[in-house]
Amino acid sequence: MLALQGDFREHMAVLASLGADAVPVKRPAELASVDGLVIPGGESSVMDKLSRMFGLADPLKAAIASGMPVYGTCAGLIMLADTVLDAIEGQQTLGGFDLVVRRNAFGSQLDSFETDLAIPELGDPPVHAVFIRAPVVESVGESARALATLDDGRVVAVEQGNLLGTSFHPEITGDTRFHEYLLQKVRDS
Ligand code: GLN
Repeated sequence: MLALQGDFREHMAVLASLGADAVPVKRPAELASVDGLVIPGGESSVMDKLSRMFGLADPLKAAIASGMPVYGTCAGLIMLADTVLDAIEGQQTLGGFDLVVRRNAFGSQLDSFETDLAIPELGDPPVHAVFIRAPVVESVGESARALATLDDGRVVAVEQGNLLGTSFHPEITGDTRFHEYLLQKVRDS
């Protein structure tokens, strides 16, 4: 669990409830001890700065490139995207996910909203998705695929091999299916 910033405690609680041995990752040695990673929601520009300051950015990029299962929610999805639009000056991402993501894509009128999403990979019932100053996936590259779209067609959940990303926050709704999906990737890897 990347624990530099954001709502990592909520994710840790979900992972623990599923029987995973979830540990906070703030340093390279902690990253080296885990088999999978969740990058939480929060503020991607701050997470970017902290990850570089703590010497974690390069080890994280190497872990992603080596095929470690990683799930990014909201700011975490931004961190994983190869390209980010509406970033702040100098903001970098870890990359690896063949996506173009736009930060704060829903504008100030619709800062936060909730909706139900049908996601065939997760089965019934639909996922109740909570969006908080959320990014949207503007384009899905050849290596990645969409798992969920809004009614207007905008992509809000994606997968690429061992990478998983959602614009929304399953860690706060009690729906554990995305975390289970990640843990299955960890078991399979
Ligand atoms: N707007 C935030 C960002 O750009 C993401 C918000 C969130 O993670 N809930 O990083």
